[in-house]
Amino acid sequence: MKILIADNAGFCFGVKRAVKMAYDQVNNSDDSKTYSYGELIHNPQVVRDLEDKGIKTIEHIDELDENSKILIRTHGIPEKIYDELKKKKVEIIDMTCPFVKRVQKIVNGYYKKGYSIVIIGDRNHPEVIGVNGWCNNSAYVIQSTDDVNSLPFLDKACVVAQTTITQKMWEDILALLHLKVKELISYNTICDATNKRQSSAEKISKEVDMMIVIGGKNSSNTQKLKKICEKNCDKTVQVESADEIDLITLKDVKTVGITAGASTPDYLIQEVIDKITSGRKE
Ligand code: SF4
Repeated sequence: MKILIADNAGFCFGVKRAVKMAYDQVNNSDDSKTYSYGELIHNPQVVRDLEDKGIKTIEHIDELDENSKILIRTHGIPEKIYDELKKKKVEIIDMTCPFVKRVQKIVNGYYKKGYSIVIIGDRNHPEVIGVNGWCNNSAYVIQSTDDVNSLPFLDKACVVAQTTITQKMWEDILALLHLKVKELISYNTICDATNKRQSSAEKISKEVDMMIVIGGKNSSNTQKLKKICEKNCDKTVQVESADEIDLITLKDVKTVGITAGASTPDYLIQEVIDKITSGRKE
C-alpha cells in the first residue's frame, strides 16, 4: 500500500507557538498556579498532557486564584475579558495567534469608525466569539448563504472571515453581501496555514482510495479538511489517534492519503503512519 502525506499537515505556526509557550511555562514554572482559559488547542491528547503537567483548563475567570497565571489560547478572547483579567492580580500570558489579533484589530478599528461588522464563520467558535468581543458583540455572524437573507440592508460594513473557513464559503457569502451593503470593506482573513492545508488535502484526496484526517473532533479546521476530502474520496475517515484506525478498513486500499488539522502534533501523525505500516507488513 502506498501512503501519501499532505504537504501541509499538522501544527500551524500559531499552534506551534502556543504549545511551545505552554510547555515553557511547565518547565520554568515558579510556585504560582497556571491555568488555560478554555482548552489550549483543539487536541485532547495535548490538553491532557498539559493538565498532567499542572496546567488546568478553566471556563470562567472567576475560577482563578490570586497571583496565578492565565494562558490565553490561539483563538483569543473578547476585549471585556482582557479588561477583567487586568483588574485581577494575575499574570496574563497571551498566546493569541498574531493572525487572529490582526482580525480583532481590523474589527475594532472599523467598529470605532461607525461601520457595522460582519463575521463569516461559526458563531459558537471561540475565535468568532473573541473577535465579536472587539466590537461590543455587535457583529452579524453569517454561517451560510441562507443567513445573508436575514441580514438587514446596511449603509457601510466591514466583513472579515474566521481564519479557518473555506475559500469557497468566503467567496459565496461575499458575493451575496455586496447586494445587501452599500459600502462593503472586505478583509479575507482566512489564514495562509488554513489555505495551504486545505489545498494540499484536496490535491491528495483526488489521488487515493482512502483518506485519513487526523485531528480533534472539536477542531473546526479538521472538520473542514474532512469535508474537502469527502468531496473527492468516499472513503474518508477522521481519527484523533492511531488507536481509532481499523486496519481491516485498509485491507483493499492501494493508496491511502493522510492529512491532519492545525492542532495535531507530529507524533500523532507518525503513530498513524506507523500503525498503517505495521499492518502492511502483517
Ligand atoms: S490556523 Fe492560522 S490563525 Fe489559526 S492558529 Fe493557526 S496560524 Fe493562527
